[in-house]
Amino acid sequence: MLNFDLTEEQQMIKKMIREFADEVVAPGAIERDRTKKFPVEVFKQLSEMGMMGLPFSEEYGGGGADTISFAIVTEELSRACASTGITYSAHISLGGAPLNLFGTEEQKHTYLTPICTGESFGAFGLTESNAGSDAGGTQTTAKEDGDDYVISGSKVFITNASYAKHLAITAITGNEGGKKEISAIIVPTNAEGFTVMDNYEKMGLNASNTTELVLDNVRVPKENLLGTQGNGFRQFLVTLDGGRIGIGAMAVGIAQAAFDRALRYSKERKQFGKTLSEFQITQFKLADMAMKIELARTMVHKAAWLKDQGRPFSKEASMCKLYASEIAMEVASEAIQIHGGYGYMKEYEVERYMRDAKLLEIGEGTSEVQRMVIARLIGC
Ligand SMILES: Cc1cc2nc3c(=O)[nH]c(=O)nc-3n(C[C@H](O)[C@H](O)[C@H](O)COP(=O)(O)OP(=O)(O)OC[C@H]3O[C@@H](n4cnc5c(N)ncnc54)[C@H](O)[C@@H]3O)c2cc1C
Repeated sequence: MLNFDLTEEQQMIKKMIREFADEVVAPGAIERDRTKKFPVEVFKQLSEMGMMGLPFSEEYGGGGADTISFAIVTEELSRACASTGITYSAHISLGGAPLNLFGTEEQKHTYLTPICTGESFGAFGLTESNAGSDAGGTQTTAKEDGDDYVISGSKVFITNASYAKHLAITAITGNEGGKKEISAIIVPTNAEGFTVMDNYEKMGLNASNTTELVLDNVRVPKENLLGTQGNGFRQFLVTLDGGRIGIGAMAVGIAQAAFDRALRYSKERKQFGKTLSEFQITQFKLADMAMKIELARTMVHKAAWLKDQGRPFSKEASMCKLYASEIAMEVASEAIQIHGGYGYMKEYEVERYMRDAKLLEIGEGTSEVQRMVIARLIGC
């Protein structure tokens, strides 16, 4: 049975979040991009709407919804403001998901519940200055000392950490036959020796929080180990598979926003006595943009659907992330082109879409890394 219709629940969520995105999120987006102000008020309301734990079990304060619903919410928020979109996507798929997948019952009640209620933002610390695409090159160490781990090292480019009460990070916990043993450990951000710095000046996603973490002999109890010792790297790879659906959904949202503005503008702007939309070249540009967005959204929903069915979805998650992020850049660039010189001006918003979209070709595995993952999964 092949069915492309959203369920009643998914349609309801879409309608609710769409109205919220248009009425509450979109109006401040330009201003937040300029001032770099984190959308605290928006997230207060998203918490009240029960969105912060949307795909997690009600037992932990979540909404018990599926991954398609998560993708819909991420797309709609990103359509209005991609900084809000990435904050939400990272909160759920990088912050909440590893706790949900690998946490003990006690860890879920202690750490996942505040994420679901919005009391804490979710974050995830993998990347280091010398370990990006090669995330296994982590240099942060967690040495066992009695009942504790003592963690030292640093992380770069970590989303949401200034607003997180705790986050899982990767660290080396040992050496198995000359091979690094990497584990995931939950660290409270107020632990002694833990510093979160919010100093980056970014190209886009300006209202999102991107931080550097320094861990200087941070002591946490061994019960903060997430999953099993030595399995942290594999756990993070599984986490990233889900995260890529979020990035794909963000990309679709940004591309849709760019397309909507380009279509509207093409019907208003007149040159040579005609609206731009009367020129066939503009029509063809818009037709290509609409087709690519439709394909990207379908791929995102397919990856989300496979995940919801409990079926393998790594290949589709990489494909949706790769395709959607690349078409988001193309569509945003064409939207600027259709706006001409006005597209280059901040007031028309399309330049922001392009700056925001660029990150999606980099974060959670670059386009090159996605091609490596897909090549491996198709048997190259
Ligand atoms: C705004 C922002 C938010 C982020 N949020 C988080 C977060 O919340 N948590 C987190 O852990 N990380 C986060 N990241 C980090 C992000 O995932 C990394 O930046 C990304 O994985 C790339 O790593 P890198 O920047 O070190 O680039 P590098 O790995 O140094 O790559 C540089 C270039 O080399 C290419 N390259 C590398 N290896 C190969 C290869 N084998 N073959 C071919 N080409 C290759 C890459 O594709 C890229 O084009 C964030 C980054 C940004 C910018």
